[in-house]
Amino acid sequence: MYALIVSNVSFLTAVPPVIVKLAEPEQRLDTCIEFTVWGYPQPQLRWFHKQKEIIENDYIRTEMGFYQDYLEGCLTFQNPTHINNGNYTLEASNAMGTVTKTVYGHFLENPDEPVTPPHSGPPDEDTFGVSIAVGLAGFACVLLLVLFVLINKYGRRSKFGMKGPVAVISGEEDSASPLHHVNHGIITPCTLDAGPDAVVIGMTRIPVVENPQYFRHGHNCNKPATLVQHIKRRDIILKRELGEGAFGKVFLAECYNLSPTKDKMLVAVKTLKDPNLSARKDFQREAELLTNLQHDHIVKFYGVCVDGDPLIMVFEYMKHGDLNKFLRAHGPDAMILVDGQPLQSNGELGLSQMLHIATQIASGMVYLASQHFVHRDLATRNCLVGNGLLVKIGDFGMSRDIYSSDYYRVGGHTMLPIRWMPPESIMYRKFSTESDVWSFGVILWEIFTYGKQPWFQLGNNEVIECITQGRVLERPRICPKEVYDIMLGCWQREPQQRLNIKDIQKVLFAMGKATPVYLDILG
Ligand code: ADP
Repeated sequence: MYALIVSNVSFLTAVPPVIVKLAEPEQRLDTCIEFTVWGYPQPQLRWFHKQKEIIENDYIRTEMGFYQDYLEGCLTFQNPTHINNGNYTLEASNAMGTVTKTVYGHFLENPDEPVTPPHSGPPDEDTFGVSIAVGLAGFACVLLLVLFVLINKYGRRSKFGMKGPVAVISGEEDSASPLHHVNHGIITPCTLDAGPDAVVIGMTRIPVVENPQYFRHGHNCNKPATLVQHIKRRDIILKRELGEGAFGKVFLAECYNLSPTKDKMLVAVKTLKDPNLSARKDFQREAELLTNLQHDHIVKFYGVCVDGDPLIMVFEYMKHGDLNKFLRAHGPDAMILVDGQPLQSNGELGLSQMLHIATQIASGMVYLASQHFVHRDLATRNCLVGNGLLVKIGDFGMSRDIYSSDYYRVGGHTMLPIRWMPPESIMYRKFSTESDVWSFGVILWEIFTYGKQPWFQLGNNEVIECITQGRVLERPRICPKEVYDIMLGCWQREPQQRLNIKDIQKVLFAMGKATPVYLDILG
């Protein structure tokens, strides 16, 4: 059973379970009998089919989420046949009582039997027996509680906006927070398409999902497959290691026959060693995705090399590496070491350079938003710096091995960049252009702190508590009020109230033009 979420804080009094919804099977990704159960403490669920309790396995399993007082989810079937036809009884129980409800599930005709209409007869005797014993008591509860459920479900949403304990808490605390006046929007928890991994930290469930956009390209029957350019292995000469990525090492290389004007050029190549099938698929997806994203502030992707091992992706070389390292190297504490001795400062970034960096990232994001692409992992570590303070968004992977302290490990191997994530992404894994805007606010904060880690003084659990309770990062010492106002505009709790990336880009551009360049650190 996936994704059981338990809140450790609740303001509810105990209530017996109510099966608010139990729908007939419906074909989704898998076939689903959708249910909603209400009750507190969290009801335990059991399913019955043909006199027997269902033991979950790969083919039949429950996928659900518990949001304060609602259990919502699916009894999911993989490739059901006529053997699965029949009544399905859901039994929900907690310390306050037990209720059941039955629904008929018709999947396929039995090829060996004449067809009988599914709803014509009484329910299966046995399951009917199970349900009737507790059903009457449950029915009384249902009647009494239906009104309360409705008030609770809709009334509370309009008062606190979001369902779930975090919304309740944020209503109580942080009256000084710049966000406290914001009305929270209704965010429907996406339990039904829940991925296989989820963790519970404090009060918060962190679900784990793949970025669905990786499936947009080449996997759509109506769209021609993306043509990823192939580069010959003999045309790539590795020179030195640049860094370590999620897939494998990143190297500086020379690449022949790439440019029509030069016979060779410097490139950065990302390698993927000994890929298993799923890693190959990820690789292919990222390559297709990158081929389709082309903009002045998105790192240029040249193609792949897949003849032999390792698999290689070829990118334009960005001389100054990732933006986070760059910011740190151009902060007040950075020194160039000469013969192991700190000697000379690298040159501190000034306000106009910071604004220039931020404007370029915003411009890349305006493009991503225009492509309806949600990045989900915007941070300075995923931007690259080239000649002349040229900055590009440079990374479209999701799981990370380097900068590992920036990610929260969930469900085995998946890492989430919680310090850059808004409350709705942390709580309900809702990612959107607006959640990218939140991350952009954090990028601004990183820029104006010369690459500090957001919430560096806090552990991951504390960060989650802080963000979900509505706290925001403080104004960096050197950050002008106008820029901090943009950050606050990115960190509005309600996604629709956040600033629009186009407007942010315009304002930053205008500020940059009005700010004199007083230190030219890069040629
Ligand atoms: P992954 O996407 O696999 O996590 P990254 O893109 O984060 O890999 O790359 C790891 C490191 O390699 C970066 O932090 C950066 O220092 C370096 N790097 C990556 N791409 C380039 C590039 N195009 N030009 C220069 N350095 C790069």
